[in-house]
Order: sequence, then structure tokens, then C-alpha cells
Amino acid sequence: MKKSFKFICIYCTISLVLLSTILPLILSNNTAFSTPDNPLKGKIILIDPGHGGIDGGTNSGNILEKNINLEASIILKTELINRGAKVMMTRDKDVSLENLCKDNDYRHRRDLKARVNMINTNDIDAYISIHVNAVNNAPYVKGPMVFYSNTNINSKTLASYVQDSLNTIAGTNRNPNVADYFLLTNVRKTGILVELGFITNNEDKNLLIKKDYLKKLSTGIVIGLEKYFENK
Ligand SMILES: [Zn+2]
Repeated sequence: MKKSFKFICIYCTISLVLLSTILPLILSNNTAFSTPDNPLKGKIILIDPGHGGIDGGTNSGNILEKNINLEASIILKTELINRGAKVMMTRDKDVSLENLCKDNDYRHRRDLKARVNMINTNDIDAYISIHVNAVNNAPYVKGPMVFYSNTNINSKTLASYVQDSLNTIAGTNRNPNVADYFLLTNVRKTGILVELGFITNNEDKNLLIKKDYLKKLSTGIVIGLEKYFENK
């Protein structure tokens, strides 16, 4: 009697442990919809690391924008996946994209057109284009800036959430800006262009080459995206 009671207890304990570990996994796989606790669940986010390959973007000595963009984007991708989002990228290695556009246009424009085309033709909930800023003769200007276009009605809202979140991290007090960049004005989907910081500012430059800081900025972008989907 005693022995079989012990056996039942062990059996119950094992069953409970299995249920408590397997059940959440089954549930999480079956609920591909966002919830108030997890607004990014099932959302499809397209990350566009600016420049690449022959196009280094802006630079400071041998520190190239294209590499910072890609590193930050890969960190952002991981964070988004950890929160249940699905992630697409315009590039995940050091390449430019002009070969994907057959238009009779100059190289840089074909690269941008290829990115625009990827964003417009894929079924996505938002896109984030990642860049690094530079300004001549103003080495004191620093901090992240978020840009959007009025071609999509929701982009400004997303830009505000992400800029607020990045302000908290960088100790800045900016508003998002409208910009007439080719990518922003030719894309119809909701999205923003994030300039992570200024390579022309020493403080920013030293931060942007550190993985820790790129992770902080990525978390800031994720928090902004979460707030946007929470309130949508
Ligand atoms: Zn750039």
C-alpha cells in the first residue's frame, strides 16, 4: 500500500512537471496573435541595415557605417524574435543590393529601389531602416534620431514611440522628424528610419562601436515597437 502510494506520488509529480513545461510551449505555438502582454507576437518586422558591400555609408577613419548598421540590425533581429516577432532583413551580410534592381538607373538608386521593393511587396507589419548619422562642422551634435514620411499615416506614431524610447536611453530630448529620403517617401508601409547616433561626435562614435550600446538601442527600438502595437 505504502509502496504504491509512493509510486502514484512520483507519477503525479512527473506528470505535473511535464504538463507545466510542455503546455506553455504548445500554447505559445498555437497563439500567433499579439496579446496585451506580448504585442509583438506574430508581427512581421522587416529590418533594413543601410548601405553594405561597395557602399560603406558614412565613416570615421576605418569605422564604417555599413558595419555598425548590420551589427545593430542582427542584435535587433534577435531581440524581436525573442519577443515572438517574425523578422525579415533586406540584407544579413556585407552586400549592396543594386543587383536586385534591373532599372536603368545609377547604382545607389538601384540599391535603394531594391530595398523599397522588398518593403512594398512583402506582407509586413512594420519596417525599420537602420543608419548612422554624420554632420559637418558640428561635432557636438549627438544622439539617435528617428525619421518618417507622411506617405503612411501610422509611421509618425511609430516614430514618436521609438524616438521617446531612444531619448530615454541616450539622454536626449528629440522629436521625430519628417524626411524626404528616397526610401521613406517611396515606401507605402508603416515604418521608420533610425539614425543610431552621429559618427562625427566622439562620444557617439565610441558608443556605436560597442555591442553593449547597440543592444541598448535595439531594446529601445523594441520598446517603441511594442508601445506602437499595444496602442494600435
Ligand atoms: Zn546611412
